[in-house]
Amino acid sequence: MFTGNRSIEVREFADPAPGPGEVVVGIRASGMCGSDLHTYRAAAAAPSSDLMVQGHEPCGDIVAVGSAVPSHVANVGDRVMIHHYWGCGTCPDCRSGWPQMCSQMEPRVATLNEHGAHAEYMKLPAIQTLPLHEKLTYKAGAAIGCGTGTAWGALERLGDVGGKTLVVFGQGPVGLSTTMLATALGASVIAVDISDGRLDIATSLGAQSVVNSSQVSDLREVIRDLTGGRGADLAVETSGATPAARQALDVVANWGVICFVGIGADVFFNTKDTLRRQLTLRTSWTLSTVQQIRCAEFVVRESLPVDDLFSHSWALDDAAAAYSWFDSQSDGKGVFELPPR
Ligand SMILES: [Zn+2]
Ligand SMILES: [Zn+2]
Repeated sequence: MFTGNRSIEVREFADPAPGPGEVVVGIRASGMCGSDLHTYRAAAAAPSSDLMVQGHEPCGDIVAVGSAVPSHVANVGDRVMIHHYWGCGTCPDCRSGWPQMCSQMEPRVATLNEHGAHAEYMKLPAIQTLPLHEKLTYKAGAAIGCGTGTAWGALERLGDVGGKTLVVFGQGPVGLSTTMLATALGASVIAVDISDGRLDIATSLGAQSVVNSSQVSDLREVIRDLTGGRGADLAVETSGATPAARQALDVVANWGVICFVGIGADVFFNTKDTLRRQLTLRTSWTLSTVQQIRCAEFVVRESLPVDDLFSHSWALDDAAAAYSWFDSQSDGKGVFELPPR
């Protein structure tokens, strides 16, 4: 649990039992996602007794199935990814695979109003489990559940990226995933970050060029030089930092399309200066169940090295050290790995 102001507590809970329509997943991998840090760094938002178990990138094996779960939906022993949101199940948003946008009830969100996956077990509706392909590791399935999946969602928002130049701002777990997936989709990626270590990982995942934005005086000029004087066709902003979000507007060419994924930036633009460039600005929030399946299939088909995104693996008891490390934001991705049960 995040108890506020970067403090962590490991607590004991009774093992959950599945109700009707539910399953319990024995967690094998639970990813650390950049958005965890917003909660980790904040003052505790709820009384200590109401705090939820953290971790919204779960992956594991089904260990118990409740009543009213058909055998074609879930069985003990199934390896599963998890879509970590659930809603009413019947409104247009839920039916289209976006339960996080449910219009009929307050969506249930692992870590926010439901317990998450930094635990031995997680209980959830059976239909929110998705099959984990035999070629994917548990930690790859965890990443596809949010960080890598969020990158996939953003690329689907951009549309056809093949053959285009794409600037990816921020090379944390989402940015690195964007670099990897977009390269496999045929884009020429220019990766931007302020950490040389992260830029090295971006190069290994296929980035055509890398730029340390803290060491250049005019990023727009650098991007122009790298794109034959035009500017980039596309940009994805994953850092959530206001300077990067504003630069995203600067580095694209006329008709450029920008997708904002990082949380927390303020983006302003002056219509007189910007309007004649015919820009398109989009936002993207994680991904749907359908996209999660599609992302996993693409990763398998292209044999993408999702496991290479992870630089650190931790045990649950090391949670305080793990988040203290992750807070520095200078390395790859972290994951809690648990033995089979
Ligand atoms: Zn709904
Ligand atoms: Zn996330």
